[in-house]
Amino acid sequence: MKLFGKHISLPFTTPSISRRDQKHIWHPLTQHKLNPELLAIKSAKGALLKDESGKTYIDAIASWYTSMYGHCHPHIIKKVKTQMETLDQVVFSGFTHEPAVELSEKLMEILPKNQDKLFFNDNGSTATEIGIKMALQYHHNLKNDRKVMLALEDGFHGDTFGAMSVSGLSVYNGAFEDHFIEVKRLPKPNGLNNAEVVAQLKAILRENAVAGFIYEPLVQGAAAMQTYDLNGLNDILKICKANQVICIADEVMTGFGKTGKHFASDYLAEKPDVMCLSKALSAGMVGMGITSCTKKIYKAFYADEVSKGLFHGHTYTGNPLACAAAIAGLELLQSPEIQGAIKNIMSLNQLFADKMRKHTRIREVRQIGVILAMDVDIEMERYGNARDKMFQYFMSKGIFLRPLGKTIYILPPYVITEAQLAKIYAAIEDYLDDLKEKQA
Ligand SMILES: *Cc1c(COP(=O)(O)O)cnc(C)c1O
Repeated sequence: MKLFGKHISLPFTTPSISRRDQKHIWHPLTQHKLNPELLAIKSAKGALLKDESGKTYIDAIASWYTSMYGHCHPHIIKKVKTQMETLDQVVFSGFTHEPAVELSEKLMEILPKNQDKLFFNDNGSTATEIGIKMALQYHHNLKNDRKVMLALEDGFHGDTFGAMSVSGLSVYNGAFEDHFIEVKRLPKPNGLNNAEVVAQLKAILRENAVAGFIYEPLVQGAAAMQTYDLNGLNDILKICKANQVICIADEVMTGFGKTGKHFASDYLAEKPDVMCLSKALSAGMVGMGITSCTKKIYKAFYADEVSKGLFHGHTYTGNPLACAAAIAGLELLQSPEIQGAIKNIMSLNQLFADKMRKHTRIREVRQIGVILAMDVDIEMERYGNARDKMFQYFMSKGIFLRPLGKTIYILPPYVITEAQLAKIYAAIEDYLDDLKEKQA
């Protein structure tokens, strides 16, 4: 450092990244008064995160289900790097480019056959926001007076206004509720209540002008990986479609192999009119969202009047680097290695799930694809505390898990090794055995 023309060396070492962070950064989903210092991650590779002191953590939730092919994957890096040297960014209204077109062709190969058009956007919330806007404007353009949305209880669809409106997990939404769009809510079908859910749905459709139905197919992520009945969802979709209600599958979490198929909608006979994609879409490298739709939806916007178009656009929409990352991700997803890895994780999870079902401190185990969730029998009065303690416990064991309430879930990157997976299972068992001892 140069001071008054003289070189001096500072008498202190550089503060840690965590310390420097505290000065100016306001983190998402964080009450800073309760969480003054956040861990700084310095690098990542495969299923491992490394902090600034050199300690490693197994990323057991693939950094919120984005880095499914592992962190800093050489194939993804190579594609993005090449793209970076060719075309970095260009306005996507009025222009197009090769990576977007190639991605559209590749996505069409794996999306349900009824999907036909892709609307590019930036993240999961914008993907659902646009899905909602497509449903509302579809009816507006057709001169149908339909303004109500239908959603499942406990659903999560993002943090922008439309997405917040349809989300059923509303503990954090108090300040905004007066500004929400009108939403009717339906309980999840569980196999036993299906007839009643159908009766409720029919009543809602009779009494309201419903434009669209948004749902996380088969598993609700933020609601602690709650799974629900496939046949019941099929029945809901059938009735919605018979009533011209636009069905919007929010596959932001479930997409790209996590349920064992490319999309959760692949398990259902009734296909959605609109699909929302993000998170693993761009392989954990660069943020991106896409909202896809059928020809029928697109046709309602295709007109001589400019105003019938979908006037929604984000500046970075269709960013070529994000497209390149997504293309590389799709190539990996379709490779025999990754498909084999998904099957392997599914069967290992299955074995562990069966074992955990017998544990006295586990109330319920849910498993679909590589997603494994278990509800821990733990006192609820210290709810937040218990969650934080669980988080700290696993971090101290070198495992990054992010329990939701009293639910521990894992959603590992497909490239996780069997040894790493075994380490996660063992840590969960140790934690539960500790609880057992404390109670005894
Ligand atoms: C994460 C998520 C979103 C929101 O995505 P962001 O990129 O965080 O805005 C929406 N829907 C579902 C199902 C999600 O899991």
